[in-house]
Parts: sequence; C-alpha cells; structure tokens
Amino acid sequence: MTAPGAARVDSLTALARDIVACRACARLRRHCEAVAARGKPEFRGWTYWGRPVPGFGDPEAALLVVGLAPAAHGGNRTGRMFTGDGSAAWLIRAMYRAGFANQPTSERRDDGLRLLGAYMTAPVRCAPPDNKPTRAEFARCRPFLRREIALLGRVRVYLALGRVAFDACRELLGAHGADVRGLRFAHGAVYELGPALPALIASYHPSRQNTNTGKLTEAMLDDVFAAARGLVDRRRPAEDRRAAARHGARIATAGDLAAQGGRAHA
Ligand code: SF4
Repeated sequence: MTAPGAARVDSLTALARDIVACRACARLRRHCEAVAARGKPEFRGWTYWGRPVPGFGDPEAALLVVGLAPAAHGGNRTGRMFTGDGSAAWLIRAMYRAGFANQPTSERRDDGLRLLGAYMTAPVRCAPPDNKPTRAEFARCRPFLRREIALLGRVRVYLALGRVAFDACRELLGAHGADVRGLRFAHGAVYELGPALPALIASYHPSRQNTNTGKLTEAMLDDVFAAARGLVDRRRPAEDRRAAARHGARIATAGDLAAQGGRAHA
C-alpha cells in the first residue's frame, strides 16, 4: 500500500513534469530560450536549463514560500526555484538560520540542499523579460500553483516575497473563502484568517534592488522567518507534533543556530 506521503511525492513529480513540458506562453518561452542560448559571461560553459521551473522542497511542508518567477540567470539557468543567484543566496541563508533548510547555500540542482518543512514556489514558472509577466501569463500559469497547493496538504503558512506574490496568495485565500478585503502588502505584516486557512506573511523580495539599497536587510528577513517559524509551530496539529517526536524529528533551537554561527530566533 502506498503511504499518503509517498502518494503526494508522486503527484508532485507528475506536476513537475507537466510544468517543465508547458509551452503555453510563447513570449516567455522565447525569452527563456534566448537567455539560455546567450548565457552570461560569468556562467560560460554552463548548460542553461531554459525551461519552466517547478516548485522545490519538502512535500510535507507547513511553510510555503512564494516568489514571483524564476530569475533569468538563476532558476532559468539552474532549473531549481531560488537557486544560483543573489536572491537565492539571501533567501536560503535566512531559511537555514530559521531551521527551514539543511544548508545555507543554493547554487545548483545537485548541491544537496534540502528544505525542512518548507516548499518554494512561484505564480509564474518561466523567467519573464524585466521580471514583468503580463496578466494573461499570470492567468495561464495559475492552475499550476493551485494544483501544487492542493497537493501540499499540510501547508499552514504562506510567506509572500514581494507584492506580486502577496496578491497571488491573497487571491488563493479568497478562492478558499477567506475575507481578504483588508489584506494590504507591508513588509512584516502577518494575517491570520482563521484556523482552517493558512496564515499569510508579507516580506519584501530579496532582490538585488531591495538588498543592495538596504530596503531589505538580513535582520529584517530573519524576523520574517522567525514569525513564520512561530506560526508554523503554533498551527501544526497536535498529531503532527507527536509524529515528529516519535520519529526523532526536531526543529533547530536557538542553541543549534548559535552553534552553527547563525542568528537565533527561538
Ligand atoms: S509561465 Fe507557466 S503557463 Fe506560461 S509557459 Fe511558463 S509554465 Fe507554461
């Protein structure tokens, strides 16, 4: 008999295959392939992925991290969400410090990164020119995100990186019956919409534009992940906590993080 967890992995695998094979947005496909063919001098010799990028992480995730779309020389190069660019470096360091990743770097698909109770995704799976997908492209890609969320049956918290991701999460929550009229994007805002729905946290996106200007600092991102950790732990059903204890699973403590040289937010 197939365990429920294994069934979810199989279905996420099928979804990933469908995403990678998609060619519904001609403009985006042309752009991704052109970027892949051209490359960038610093990545000379690298074979770009150049195809749509599926989500990545723990099928049993309680935290869903939602970005905008793969970066032209990040996910579009490496084939994994938030991998191989400056945004990924910031994000994964913060996730590691908060105990959501097994290592502080995300550089290539075979680098050994594992997300712990977290999953990374985006409302658009192809790198868009100037990071600006059109409305039609958002609409075309949205079924993949809906399907993914339906498969990730244990998500308790959405963490939206940037206003566009926040709007996508708000729409998803609205479709599940939440009253989303009062939800406004502001860095660090936390919205709890009732016990049956995931909570929503807003954060500035760790793009170079935000990190180079100091609009987003590492401490600010750490605070966001500390809030996510607190919500995940509080909203995890008691049976999950008992199962985790039975299997010896544990969350990184302040002591662990300090020993690893990270910032502690327990
Ligand atoms: S953005 Fe989404 S819908 Fe459009 S081609 Fe890429 S995977 Fe397909």
